[in-house]
Amino acid sequence: MNADTLKSNIDKLLERVRLSAQKSQRENSIRVLAVSKTRSADEIRRAAGLGLHEFGENYLQEALAKIAELSDLDLCWHFIGPIQSNKTRPIAEHFHWVHSVDRLKVARRLSEQRPRSLPDLQICLQVNISGEASKSGVDLAELPALARAVMALPRIRLRGLMAIPAAGLEPEAQHAAFATLRRALENLQQEAPELDTLSMGMSGDLEAAIAEGATIIRVGTDIFGPR
Ligand SMILES: *Cc1c(COP(=O)(O)O)cnc(C)c1O
Repeated sequence: MNADTLKSNIDKLLERVRLSAQKSQRENSIRVLAVSKTRSADEIRRAAGLGLHEFGENYLQEALAKIAELSDLDLCWHFIGPIQSNKTRPIAEHFHWVHSVDRLKVARRLSEQRPRSLPDLQICLQVNISGEASKSGVDLAELPALARAVMALPRIRLRGLMAIPAAGLEPEAQHAAFATLRRALENLQQEAPELDTLSMGMSGDLEAAIAEGATIIRVGTDIFGPR
């Protein structure tokens, strides 16, 4: 993608975010996570040059190569893909955030493996809000117990929740799915008011997510083009 297209995509996206926040009378403190899976280090460098600072990656090997290649830049790296429990160490060592923690075993390993020289690893629990349609994510019924256990672990800090609703939902169903995640966070906040993050909304549904309280949106296609 040429530099002009990338710039105009980013400008359009930030305008959508601004308008959505305004429409739901929210302060525009929404963080844009640029999802850079399958994109080259050069593309990420160009996006960083245009002001993006946070990047989300799904595939570990690919991500580690890009993180190394871009180590001269001051970027914030988020792991957002499925996690195999035997692959947690490089995640604990190289990322700032992990959005896709959905079981205690993974959280324990990230906690043990987070280098003591680094700040706490920031964690979101991935919640399954689409029932049987999804295999990833903790079920709502099991979320409170998992959240409590994760909050007790050292060197990782629970920040909030993440979800990926089923694809192709009508706007009404998108709103309903995101509202489910917001209410789940509100329930946890009764015990843990410091939880402050709702990671929800992608290229196709970010307006609904922002209306329902997203604090981080994860956008790939509408920044970098189709994969
Ligand atoms: C790929 C991906 C995104 C970005 O999706 P787009 O539709 O390209 O914006 C967001 N979140 C997760 C977890 C993803 O895997």
